[in-house]
Amino acid sequence: MKLPKLFLFLLALTVVSCAKKEETTSFKFGVWITADAKREDADYAKEFKKYKEGGIDEVLINTQTDPKLLKRLVPIAKKEGLKVHAWIMAMNRPNDSLALQHPDWYQVSKEGKSCFDNRPYVDYYQWLCPTKKESREHVLALVEGLAKVEGIESVHLDYIRFPDIFLPISLLPKYNLVQDTELPQFDFCYCDACVSKFEKEHHKNPKTSHNTSIDMEWKNFRLNAIKAVVDDAYKIAHKHNKKLTAAVFPYPEMADHMVRQRWDKWNIDEVYPMIYHSFYNEEIDWVGYATKQGVSDLEEKAIKINTGIYIPGLKSDKELKEAILYAKDNGAKGVSFFDGNALSDSNLKTIKETKASLK
Ligand SMILES: [Zn+2]
Repeated sequence: MKLPKLFLFLLALTVVSCAKKEETTSFKFGVWITADAKREDADYAKEFKKYKEGGIDEVLINTQTDPKLLKRLVPIAKKEGLKVHAWIMAMNRPNDSLALQHPDWYQVSKEGKSCFDNRPYVDYYQWLCPTKKESREHVLALVEGLAKVEGIESVHLDYIRFPDIFLPISLLPKYNLVQDTELPQFDFCYCDACVSKFEKEHHKNPKTSHNTSIDMEWKNFRLNAIKAVVDDAYKIAHKHNKKLTAAVFPYPEMADHMVRQRWDKWNIDEVYPMIYHSFYNEEIDWVGYATKQGVSDLEEKAIKINTGIYIPGLKSDKELKEAILYAKDNGAKGVSFFDGNALSDSNLKTIKETKASLK
């Protein structure tokens, strides 16, 4: 009896030490890039090679939801040793030619203006309603089109949220804005589909609410509308044997507060919180703080966190290295850089050296 027990104990020790080794060596490095169909294959091969040599393991490619362009790029990236994720702008769909034929698919502000023709902050803010059957089905059909592409790791949702009710603090002066309270022109979605579904569930109308910013059912209704799109996208991705991942706001409470996004409640495989410290006038150690928040919120689930690092917000390669280490030391399984264009040769050298130092 004693021998097998000892054997099992030794076996368990081996498993633990292997798992630890795996954990250290599998920390991954990614980069978000936007593709252009006009560029040559050889040009992409060169770009991908440069990333691989700089220690990058995966590319998250925005093809403007064009499966054909994605199909073209996947073998080129894989040949250079990179994994590919299909990055899609989900609820914000600028210049979506099909959606633009349906003005009623767009989100409506508390002022009653549709972002079909009245766009908050910037012209590319063209948000579709997550509740209305036709608009959510359109988004999910785009997810499916990408999920079908052979060889990708995941469909990677971006803009899977509401428009910013509060902008990141460092961006406010750019728009000459003060946002001390929820402003009606940035508060969405008061479209007929949302209001009537909410009324059915809660027997009250947000349009006549005394103060929508403290109406928890109304907030939660919108968090759940986004969750429902994600959970459906998860089923679609998995049906095609792909994962579902997403670029999200820094940590769940912050995402909830700023953009009505509660990603710790989603069915998803991995998240890439955009921990862009410079947007929030924070120091580099905040990368560690925000990473830790998400990691501890997802502790019970099998959802992995990859910390998004904003390259233009870094003052030096020393800070780049620090940001990577803050992410890793606080439980992230990888980092991803925004974006490919911003990565200099010296950044790539730093990434490679930092990666080597982890082993
Ligand atoms: Zn709506």
